[in-house]
Amino acid sequence: MSTADSTRQTVLTLNSGSSSLKFAVFEGGSSRQRRLSGKFDRIGIPGGELSVTDLKSGGKARRSISLRDHASCLPILDEILREYGLENIEAAGHRVVHGGPNHTAPARVTAALLGELRRLEPFAPNHLPAAIALMEGLSRERPKVSQVACFDTAFHQDLPVEARLLAIPRRYAAQGVRRYGFHGLAFESVLRDLHAQTRGILPSRLLLAHLGNGASLAAVRDGRCVDTTMGFTPLGGLVMSTRSGDIDPGLVTFLASLERLDPTQIEHLFSAESGLLGLSETSSDVRDLLAREETDSRAAEALAVFCHQARRFIGALTAVLGGLDALVFSGGIGENSAVIRRRLCAGLEFLGLTLDADRNVAGSPIISSDRSKVTVRIIVADEERLLAAEALALLSATTSPQAVPPFSTASSP
Ligand code: ADP
Repeated sequence: MSTADSTRQTVLTLNSGSSSLKFAVFEGGSSRQRRLSGKFDRIGIPGGELSVTDLKSGGKARRSISLRDHASCLPILDEILREYGLENIEAAGHRVVHGGPNHTAPARVTAALLGELRRLEPFAPNHLPAAIALMEGLSRERPKVSQVACFDTAFHQDLPVEARLLAIPRRYAAQGVRRYGFHGLAFESVLRDLHAQTRGILPSRLLLAHLGNGASLAAVRDGRCVDTTMGFTPLGGLVMSTRSGDIDPGLVTFLASLERLDPTQIEHLFSAESGLLGLSETSSDVRDLLAREETDSRAAEALAVFCHQARRFIGALTAVLGGLDALVFSGGIGENSAVIRRRLCAGLEFLGLTLDADRNVAGSPIISSDRSKVTVRIIVADEERLLAAEALALLSATTSPQAVPPFSTASSP
């Protein structure tokens, strides 16, 4: 692909979660008009659903669909692309949750890369197999599409040693055990938007709070991530929809021996049965809990623990930064819930942070008051746009497709 070609390209983005697959199609190469977006939901569990939004007409479609696994979404996606006249995809950008110790930048999807990612599967067993299956499936269905993998861990690659090292025997660090940090695409997308909004002058001591079903904070000093709440896996740090966040490691062995749990059951307990769902015993969804909190003390307590832990980590990372100039909220909760933003910020006045109540309720781009020493913003994290941009940037930097080793796997045609 030449640089000239990349100005016209149609790019598909694939963003796989543990039981979902978000997709988008961007037309117009570097100008990147989003043409289509959609989501396969509840993959591998009953009640599967597909939603598609046509950005050109504004039309939305939603249907129930049974989805065995992530790869089985590809033929359906192919039909959708044809239906919307978007079958001429030339490039694809994939979100890959874990890049291990070596992947610090987007990379062309090659057989060698897939081999490396397979070796990394134990690092992210709920995410990597699906992402690999999608890359392989797409290469079989559309061998001419140039694919690029973008790693969620890359944003945190340069963590200073004191934030990166885990205080366990050093021999594990040699095996790649370290604090990785996640949500890198979301953080990078927010950082680029902030860069544009501040005309290139980033606040020196910046805290990014990405609060969705998964949630984490990143402390960014002078443009560089210096600490983050997630650790070796995306289970650590804040309380999340179904993930516990940080817990005493002694609890793992206690529960394992109490209930004779094996590693898979332990992982399920902390990743799928905990967090807001575990505490409330009813829902992992903040909207549900807010609607129920006045009549159900478990819902109220779940939200209280969520806010307490988030505030606690905001305090910790503010100390790492040596103070705070700006706080940015993103993710489904951070972008949409004025109530949660208000509760999180209550008690942070000692930092000179005050919200403007009306701006907060309106969801304005800046929600702090004019007298606040800390600027508080809302920025929509757009991982799909970033994936498209990164895929095009890498591919256009490649002189020609012939210069790149051809993609092949054992099962490729
Ligand atoms: P994911 O991490 O899966 O991409 P999202 O970023 O979509 O998740 O965030 C989902 C969370 O955002 C859910 O807890 C949902 O309740 C919450 N959320 C979305 N809209 C609102 C809203 N208007 N008020 C409160 N919470 C909201």
